Amino acid sequence: MTDLYIFDLDGTLIDSGEDIADCVNEAFSHFGYFRVEKEKLIAFLGDGARALIERALKESTRGKFDFESDFGKRKFDELLNWYLEYYYENPVKKTKLYAGIKELLRTLKEKGKKTAVLTNKPGRIAKTILEKLEVEKYIDLIVSPDDFAKKKPDPAALAFTVGKINEKFGSSFAEDSVIMIGDSNVDIECGKAYGCKTVGCRSGIGDTEKLLSARPDLSFAVASEIEKFIDVLSENSDISEIQKFAMENEVPILQDEGSTFICDYILSHNVKTILEIGTAIGFSSIRFAKLNPQIKVTTIEIDEKRYETAKKNVENENLSDRIELILGNALETPIDKKFDLIFIDAAKAQYIKFFEKYKENLTENGVILSDNLSFHGMVEDLSLTHNYSTIKLVKKIRKYIEFLKSNEEFETEFHKIGDGVSVSRKVKGES
Ligand code: SAH
Ligand code: MG
Repeated sequence: MTDLYIFDLDGTLIDSGEDIADCVNEAFSHFGYFRVEKEKLIAFLGDGARALIERALKESTRGKFDFESDFGKRKFDELLNWYLEYYYENPVKKTKLYAGIKELLRTLKEKGKKTAVLTNKPGRIAKTILEKLEVEKYIDLIVSPDDFAKKKPDPAALAFTVGKINEKFGSSFAEDSVIMIGDSNVDIECGKAYGCKTVGCRSGIGDTEKLLSARPDLSFAVASEIEKFIDVLSENSDISEIQKFAMENEVPILQDEGSTFICDYILSHNVKTILEIGTAIGFSSIRFAKLNPQIKVTTIEIDEKRYETAKKNVENENLSDRIELILGNALETPIDKKFDLIFIDAAKAQYIKFFEKYKENLTENGVILSDNLSFHGMVEDLSLTHNYSTIKLVKKIRKYIEFLKSNEEFETEFHKIGDGVSVSRKVKGES
């Protein structure tokens, strides 16, 4: 039973990027620093005010700001405090609730659910904003770094929040009654480490690609879409039931059809050797290896923590002899072997480079598969997002599609299945 809904604030309940950016720039002007482009500032959000000002100062001074000297430290603190005061005075000039949030929070109350906000924003600012937007009455608890020093993604922050709710209501909620909803990978990682279900919001402020690679159980464009699922969520703790419901009701959630398509391809084309670029925590590698005991997977991951998690997962499945995990940047990893199928599933901005490097590693009839070429419809319709880093990414995906279409060495088929999959194989030479 899901009874406690814990929301991230910025990018999940509220669209606050512009106000924050304006306040940072006010502070910079006040202290005589160059202003920073709004889109850039918004991309710097997610890890709290200190990290934001640090990144913004680096950008504003072109890396010249001296964070180490006594003078620099003093200036930094002055600037940070000025910014926080100013933001506290001006938190809701442009900030709005995302569509449907008020209705969602009201419905949750009507259904007797408990709600909390877990934010890395200073608590008094969070509270002011929720008051001004008239939703504070629907929220049972706000937890910020002022209440508990450990910030997201530390799962202790979630455990603390659940504990406080239990204290307040005499309830005994635990992992299986909690759902964490957020727009950044930090929220999802926090929820996963704590052990509850997670929902990702794709049109928030956070980096969408990072969000999805943290693998939320469900993902929606905006948080209010979970309103349709409240009853399913309440009755069921099984995500696959929710996915089924979503398909039947045509609600867009994290799609699995893409990987089903790849599995079908592997089985129907008798693929025996697979190279995967982007392991994450081994989810897809394990799925491929389990299709047939003759299949061997080699997979590369750049992030050490994920690589370690993948290793454990592969060991738990007893697949270490058939899944070879490599830690490193796939653009720099020398690989000599040839593969029947190469699955590119790493940083989308680098797809062309991955393709160029790994086309040398194909067996005679080998294919290169790439996923997420539609990027939730944004590749076709860029107006679906206003997120700066997402727009940049979508443009890169479009370039990759153009690259494949105009490639004379390879022929490519594009499938609308899942989130858009392409299959490319070498054009047969004259012989
Ligand atoms: N294939 C996985 C999901 C991969 S998510 C699955 O379906 O379960 C993409 C992963 O690619 C992330 O974990 C990211 O850290 C990794 N990545 C990004 N750039 C990379 C690079 N240059 N080399 C190797 N891995 C990379
Ligand atoms: Mg957020």
